Amino acid sequence: MDIKSIMRKYGIKADKRLGQHFLMDERPIAAILEAAELSSEDCVLEIGPGLGALTEKLCRRAKKVAAVEKDGDLIPALKNRVGVFENICIIEEDVLKLDLELLKNRYFMSDFKVVANLPYYITSPIIMKLVESRCLVKLAVIMVQKEVARRLTALPGGKDYGILSVAVQLHADVDIVCEVGSEAFVPPPKVDSAVVRIIFRHEPRVKLEDEAVFFEVVEAAFGHRRKILRNSLKDRLALCGISLDKIDDALEKAGIDPARRGETLSIEEFARLAALLRN
Ligand code: SAM
Repeated sequence: MDIKSIMRKYGIKADKRLGQHFLMDERPIAAILEAAELSSEDCVLEIGPGLGALTEKLCRRAKKVAAVEKDGDLIPALKNRVGVFENICIIEEDVLKLDLELLKNRYFMSDFKVVANLPYYITSPIIMKLVESRCLVKLAVIMVQKEVARRLTALPGGKDYGILSVAVQLHADVDIVCEVGSEAFVPPPKVDSAVVRIIFRHEPRVKLEDEAVFFEVVEAAFGHRRKILRNSLKDRLALCGISLDKIDDALEKAGIDPARRGETLSIEEFARLAALLRN
């Protein structure tokens, strides 16, 4: 049965506050499954299964599937579609509250992959939760807004490069799998979308002595995009008791021109600067 018929049968109206845009086009679904490279050995967490467009196919390919859905009103239709599979566990819960360590230890018994057509209103917190849980998660293949996909893959110097780019690229390799138009969803979202693949690294891209100081510097640099780096750092780092002399000294030793804009710094340069400011 197609998604519109399922919605009619169960009297379901998409709740936009929960980011409900159900996939009805098979092409992005096929692209997501291919990018996830699922085998019968894989365990998969699906975030926001909705009416099961992806879930059913995950159950056919993976060893175990856990599907976490916040909206209890969708569960009967979801169960009707995937209840025949023995390898699925449907969890009615907010994914941001879900204990991923427990999921691994009690259900999957191994690390796992994440697959999702994300609810866009909580894209960043979900991605940051996955980054923080990177020792549990092998990779994530997720549908996000196209603008977020650009930020996730942005390189230094562009307008899309920001804290999210640095935070994710520090711990993962990210690529865009495909772009998806709004007509692929019911109801269509107001924005275009893209599927991204995030492969978590065993070691961070650069070794950090102190991740808190690193992000203090990154946030300072991106805080005022129009200011030169020296001034952005001065305003923010004064709050942590770091003097302008120390900033000048660190910039010189790191070989970074103080007149550059913060958003031109690579992750390696941020790390060098943070290490010098920490000392
Ligand atoms: N996977 C389905 C599809 O592709 O057709 C639905 C995707 S829809 C974009 C996002 C789904 O996430 C909805 O089913 C929504 O109810 C669910 N959702 C929203 N907030 C959530 C949360 N905090 N935790 C878990 N699921 C959530």
